[in-house]
Amino acid sequence: MLYKDFQGLKLSALGLGAMRLPVVDGDDTKIDQDAVNGMVAYAMEQGINYYDTAWGYHGGNSEVALGRALAQHPRDQFYLATKFPGYDLSNMDKVEEIFERQLEKTGMEYFDFYLIHNVCESNIDEYLNPAHGIMPYLLEQKKAGRIRHLGFSAHGAIPVMERFLEAYGEHMEFCQIQLNFLDWRFQNAKGKVDLLKKYNLPVWVMEPVRGGKLAQISDEDAARLHELRPDESTVAWAFRFIQGIPEVCVTLSGMSNMDQLKENIQTFSEDKSLNEEERAALQAVVDEMLGRGTVPCTACHYCTNHCPQGLDIPKLLEMYNEAIVTGGKGGFIPSMYVGTLPEDKRPDACIGCGSCAAVCPQQIDIPGTLADFAAKLAG
Ligand code: SF4
Ligand code: SF4
Repeated sequence: MLYKDFQGLKLSALGLGAMRLPVVDGDDTKIDQDAVNGMVAYAMEQGINYYDTAWGYHGGNSEVALGRALAQHPRDQFYLATKFPGYDLSNMDKVEEIFERQLEKTGMEYFDFYLIHNVCESNIDEYLNPAHGIMPYLLEQKKAGRIRHLGFSAHGAIPVMERFLEAYGEHMEFCQIQLNFLDWRFQNAKGKVDLLKKYNLPVWVMEPVRGGKLAQISDEDAARLHELRPDESTVAWAFRFIQGIPEVCVTLSGMSNMDQLKENIQTFSEDKSLNEEERAALQAVVDEMLGRGTVPCTACHYCTNHCPQGLDIPKLLEMYNEAIVTGGKGGFIPSMYVGTLPEDKRPDACIGCGSCAAVCPQQIDIPGTLADFAAKLAG
């Protein structure tokens, strides 16, 4: 196992994420405890010492299951992380109640790492609202030794992260972001890494394989990668890409079975970052993925002044692309973003006048795209 230094601690470069644990009868809330115990025992034996859960994973049962599995191992041999669930605004005034309950659920006396969960467009105002008392409470817990290291996770865009860091950056010790070979440019993970660097914050990676979706590449692309690295799977390529980013400390993978765990441990037994030729091959895979029906908006903003509805067209198109790449409604990011907009600024507020398309240098069918986006969001 590779290890990374963090404030004198030796953290395993691969962390076990507990958001996709094995379940019984396909019910996401019914975790197969025996299987989890087995996976955690194997992970410990192989040197993984970082375990990540959260209040909401598996309908609230992930913290319990992971806590039970870890209870079978000495407390000083693992690091446990969980998170304050402010993605649900009704939790904002419950930081004490939730924190105490998390200690009970996991059976722990302290958390090694505690994160403010999913800072994004829909909750930033409330996370920054001092009336909730979240930060003073968490700092108190840190002082009392019940939180050893404080950080945050973010799905929000860079301006949201900037607002959070301006307010709380001095208290943060690390940040968890979605980073993988697709999102390096697509969700501007590179820009986020650069921003965190300014605050001297190491990066924790989530969704390194986008829930397995990045492994679903065309046969042609797979053959090209295989030619360059005959012994590595597409999943391993995704991790090798991350290994080449020096700011990354822990990479979390939500593993669902022993086979995935074994393969990932094997990958993290050595650092085999990609060379230039390999990065170019991976970029070709990204180009192919982005070619599947996304629109080539460059965010030039030429169109926005022409919209009688005052829509933020480039941002809506960015969210549309996210939906296309992810499939279906596009996961939670597009729905979450659109949900934060007033009704008259959403994709279905487009009246189809076409003034925007007439000035778009990329010749994007903007009204058609927004109509398609509205239909996708409507399910
Ligand atoms: S077609 Fe829609 S997005 Fe474009 S200018 Fe008209 S209302 Fe705005
Ligand atoms: S004019 Fe076209 S490329 Fe420019 S922001 Fe608008 S949609 Fe995007």
